[in-house]
Amino acid sequence: MRFADIGLSDELLRALSEAGYDAPTPIQAAAIPQVQMMRDIIAIAQTGTGKTASFVLPMIDVLANGRARARMPRSLILEPTRELAAQVAENFEKYGKYHKLSMALLIGGVQMGDQVKALEKGVDVLIATPGRLMDLFERGKILLTGCEMLVIDEADRMLDMGFIPDIEHICTKLPTTRQTLLFSATMPPPIKKLADKFLSNPKYIEVARPATANVNIEQFLVNVTQMKKREVLRDLLRTETVSNAIIFCNRKTTVRELNTSLQRHGFRSGEIHGDIDQASRQKQLEAFKNGDIDLLVASDVAARGLDVKGVSHVFNFDAPWHPDDYVHRIGRTGRAGAKGKAFTFVTKADQEAIESIEKLIGNKIERLGEIEVQVDGEERVPAKRGRRTSSVKAKEARPEPPEAVAETSQPKPVREKTVAKPAREKPEPKPESAKPAQSGGAATGDDGWNGPMPGFLSVGFGT
Ligand code: AMP
Repeated sequence: MRFADIGLSDELLRALSEAGYDAPTPIQAAAIPQVQMMRDIIAIAQTGTGKTASFVLPMIDVLANGRARARMPRSLILEPTRELAAQVAENFEKYGKYHKLSMALLIGGVQMGDQVKALEKGVDVLIATPGRLMDLFERGKILLTGCEMLVIDEADRMLDMGFIPDIEHICTKLPTTRQTLLFSATMPPPIKKLADKFLSNPKYIEVARPATANVNIEQFLVNVTQMKKREVLRDLLRTETVSNAIIFCNRKTTVRELNTSLQRHGFRSGEIHGDIDQASRQKQLEAFKNGDIDLLVASDVAARGLDVKGVSHVFNFDAPWHPDDYVHRIGRTGRAGAKGKAFTFVTKADQEAIESIEKLIGNKIERLGEIEVQVDGEERVPAKRGRRTSSVKAKEARPEPPEAVAETSQPKPVREKTVAKPAREKPEPKPESAKPAQSGGAATGDDGWNGPMPGFLSVGFGT
C-alpha cells in the first residue's frame, strides 16, 4: 500500500514525499482511514511505529477546512512530556507545510504570557501537557467547547505520571460530539476505564510492539555488580562499534554522576533528566543529534519518545523497573530499518525485573557473563564478542577518584502504588518514571521539572 492509496490530500502527499515516506506503516494504514471516517479509535502502538503521523496526517486534512476562533482551539493533543509535545509539533510542521493551519504548544516550564497570546489569536491545533492546560483553563484563558478532535497520546505514560484525573477533567470540558483518538503502548485497567468513559464506539487497532517485532535490535544482558557498572560500561564503549549511544539510568542522581564520570574519562557525553531546564535539555539534544557529543545519559521521563536517527547503541546502566520502560528505551535504537544493539546491566537485585521484561517481550535475552576488568584498569573483553573499534573515542583518561558508587541496590517501586497520586505533592526521591505529576503552579513543568522558564513557542505553519 502507498500513501496515495489512502485518500490523503495532494498537499500532504507532497510533504510526505519530501520527507521521504512513500508507504504507510501498519499503524498508519490501519488508523488513517478510521480517522478520516470520523471514528473514535483506541490504538495500541509504541513510539517507533510511526504512530504520530497516524493521527497528525488525517488531522491536517480534517482541519484544512474551517477557521480557528479566539481562545477556542479546534483540536487538542495531550502529551505526557514536553519533549513528546515538541516532537508532535515538529510532525505538524513537517507534514503541514503546504497547509495554512496554526498551532500552539502549551507546555510546562515556559512563560505563560506568550502561550496566552497565541491562544487569543485562535489555533487549529493545540498540543499540550495536561498540567499546563489545566492551569490555563482554570484561569479562564482557554475554552475547549470548540474542540472537536481530541488525541490522548501515550495514555499509559500519562497514567504512570498521575495525569489521568486531569485528563478526565479535560474530557468533560470538550463537546460530547467530538472525535477522540487514544494511543497507548499497553492497556492497563485504568486506561480501559478511561476509554470506556470517554470514547464512543471506538475502533480498536493494535500493531506489533516494535521492540519485540524489531529484529534489528540485538539485545544482551550483562551480569555485573553495582560497583563495577561504570568500568564495564567504559569497557563496552571502547570495544563495541559505538557511533552514538543513549545510556539510561533509573535516577537523576545516577544520570548526573555517570555523565560526570564519563566526561572525566574523556568521553564526549551529555545528560538529560527532569531537573535540567528546558533550554539546556534542548541544547543537549541538539548536541547529540549533531554529533557534538556521542553519549547521552538519560532518565526515562526526559528521554521518552526521543526520536534521534542512527542511535547505534542503548545501554541500560540500570535495569528498568517497569518492563514497558525497557521496550521504550531499547526502541531508541534500531529505528527506521537501521541495526542497533541494546545492553542491559543486571545486578543480583534486578533478576525479578528481568523476568518481567522477558515475559513482556516473549523472549529470553542473551546473557553475557560479567565482563572482566583488570585491577589496573586495562579491560579484557569476553572472547565471545571479540574486540572491535569504537568510534566513540575517549580522550586520554584522567585519573578518577575511587568509584564508590553511592547508589546501592534500589527498592523496587510497586507500579500500582505509583499510579494513584496526589497530583500536587513533591515527588522526590522516587525514580523519574514513577514520579507523581505536578499539575499546579505556573512554574511547574508537567514532567516534574521546576526550573526557570525560557521562551514559549507558538508556530504558525504552512505557506
Ligand atoms: P513515531 O512512532 O511516531 O515516534 O515515529 C517513529 C519514526 O518513524 C519517526 O522517525 C518518523 O519520522 C518515522 N516515520 C513515520 N512514518 C513513517 C513512514 N511511513 N515510513 C517510514 N518512516 C516513518
